[in-house]
Amino acid sequence: MNHADIQSLASRVAGPVLVPGDEGYDEERSGANLAVRHEPDAIVGAARAEDVREAVALAARHGLPVAVQCTGHGFAAASRGGLLVTTGRMREVEVDPERRTAWVAAGARFEDVIPVAAAHGLAPLNGSAPHVGVVSYVLGGGVGLLVRTHGYAADRVRTLELVTADGRARTVTPESDPDLFWAVVGGRDNFGIVTRLEMDLIPLSRVYGGGFFYDVEAAPDLLGTYVRWADAMPREMNSTIASLPMPDDPKVPAPIRGRHVHHVCVAYTGDPAEGERLVAPLREAAPVLSESLRDMPYTECGTIHDEPRFPVPFQRETALLREVDQEVLRLLAEHTGPGAPLPCVVELRHLAGAGDAAGERRNSVGLRDAPYLLAVVAPLYGITAEDTRPMYEKLFADLAPYSSGAALNFLGFGTQAGPERVRAAYEPADLERLTRLKAVYDPQNVFRLNYNIPPAAPR
Ligand SMILES: Cc1cc2nc3c(=O)[nH]c(=O)nc-3n(C[C@H](O)[C@H](O)[C@H](O)COP(=O)(O)OP(=O)(O)OC[C@H]3O[C@@H](n4cnc5c(N)ncnc54)[C@H](O)[C@@H]3O)c2cc1C
Repeated sequence: MNHADIQSLASRVAGPVLVPGDEGYDEERSGANLAVRHEPDAIVGAARAEDVREAVALAARHGLPVAVQCTGHGFAAASRGGLLVTTGRMREVEVDPERRTAWVAAGARFEDVIPVAAAHGLAPLNGSAPHVGVVSYVLGGGVGLLVRTHGYAADRVRTLELVTADGRARTVTPESDPDLFWAVVGGRDNFGIVTRLEMDLIPLSRVYGGGFFYDVEAAPDLLGTYVRWADAMPREMNSTIASLPMPDDPKVPAPIRGRHVHHVCVAYTGDPAEGERLVAPLREAAPVLSESLRDMPYTECGTIHDEPRFPVPFQRETALLREVDQEVLRLLAEHTGPGAPLPCVVELRHLAGAGDAAGERRNSVGLRDAPYLLAVVAPLYGITAEDTRPMYEKLFADLAPYSSGAALNFLGFGTQAGPERVRAAYEPADLERLTRLKAVYDPQNVFRLNYNIPPAAPR
């Protein structure tokens, strides 16, 4: 790709085209994870679907790899050369109250969808952080705030508009192209760049939710208490427990500032009075430093987990857990206090029953039987991702006998995005089918800067 190619591309797209050294290049390639950045030969800041098509077509002609970035929360593999398509300018959301669906453009975040849907008494199946990109979250499974009650967000996709590796813009439904639809929803960025998708919304206006904070040292048995409590909860109760090393920073609320805390979050879709009764054992389990539980409009659901919105450097790793017994609790406890080998965020999400919640599986999101999802996030302040490797390798090797695989949306980058880890995120038969479909739709592996599914070798 030479200067003339770049100029010609720039004349055909509505968004900016940036090369190294251009003003705005660094800002455009930066995302929510400060530990990693793409280093592409050129960036197309797509302003419309046609820009994405032009960019992919050019890359395909030159045999260049293509990466795509929305917010950068789910960074997988860094580009060194090639083309980066950024989607942050494409944030349009259109709700159809009759069909109870939303059309969501590639750059939209859940915070763009939630208020528009709420105006019609509807809600998307968003995750814990409203500032995460909708498209990637949904294509990676979408383990939402209400996953036990309403299942995986991936099951609510109706239509995809995407650009495939041959530079073609396609509209794909389970009826029109069952194979491609099945592969994209689950295979994510391996089969194309989705420029817009249509997904179901659910009728929901309010939720009973919030969180409890406890000091880890004052509540050493809380992990076990939480798991026993969660296991007894009905499907309307969705919950997580995390342990977090809180910084000693005046911006952090005084009761939890500078402490290593447990944070239990709940989102209950039933009657608030019943929700209040169900969470009572959590309130009594240990001294509560602060709590935020209330009946709230769904538009405030982002306050339940209250995750930071500012970019931070981090590495992460994940396991789907078949069970959480005394040994798993012991292993997690080692990583959840002031004496932990690394100060990291350890989170357990309760999924039990999510796999058979409403919604039809017409996609490659598998591994749905695990009752718990573990995510361990290491902030990289003064250390590199490489420094976290021994901790991750030891913890996840110890947990391997309890794990049925990994959740695509929570994999990390670098070694945590390698072939072994990608294999762990799929059921073996699904992965085999995905590699066969990859050979059909992207035989040159144009989309390889990701959790890569390589094309099957020709038979
Ligand atoms: C604070 C936080 C909370 C989270 N909570 C949840 C949760 O509750 N449930 C859950 O399931 N996950 C959750 N996640 C994980 C999140 O869903 C994934 O990391 C997701 O991939 C982020 O998407 P993004 O667009 O924001 O990030 P990006 O890094 O921009 O995208 C992630 C990947 O998706 C691909 N991609 C982006 N746009 C497109 C597109 N248009 N077409 C095809 N591929 C594309 C890119 O190749 C990229 O590698 C959370 C992550 C964070 C950081």
